[in-house]
Amino acid sequence: MDIFEKLEILSDAAKYDASCSSSGSTRKNTNNGIGNGHVSGICHSWGADGRCISLLKILFTNACIYDCKYCINRRSNDVRRATFTPREVADLTINFYKRNYIEGLFLSSAVIKTPDYTMELLVKTVTILRKEYNFNGYIHCKTIPGCSQELIDKLRKVS
Ligand code: SF4
Repeated sequence: MDIFEKLEILSDAAKYDASCSSSGSTRKNTNNGIGNGHVSGICHSWGADGRCISLLKILFTNACIYDCKYCINRRSNDVRRATFTPREVADLTINFYKRNYIEGLFLSSAVIKTPDYTMELLVKTVTILRKEYNFNGYIHCKTIPGCSQELIDKLRKVS
């Protein structure tokens, strides 16, 4: 599966994460129109100064080990599954940033293998962005319920 197919699946899966200010709506272009809207992919948040900032909104994976009845990503649901690598998420973020598509990253995830295993991957993603690519833009990274305090502290330090 190529990275754009993963992006399609994991940006769509992220639209159900309602903890951001807007998830957008779908609006098709017309013959004489300019632009269109899409329900997933880029969302918005607000900085302390009131400025609106655009964020690449994705899940790291939607291949969840759990089966929460209300959730689209639940194990028993028949949906397409995908999982990024930390490098793929970091590369997408930095390249979209350089093209001025986004100003930051909103990263959440389902749970693969264990909460700690998943959290390690999220920490690695943020570490690549902050330490290797020197990305100083906005990052909203969810913590995985049940992961160790040590990993939360690691995320806080690198963020
Ligand atoms: S753990 Fe999270 S992603 Fe997984 S099924 Fe439950 S709510 Fe969905």
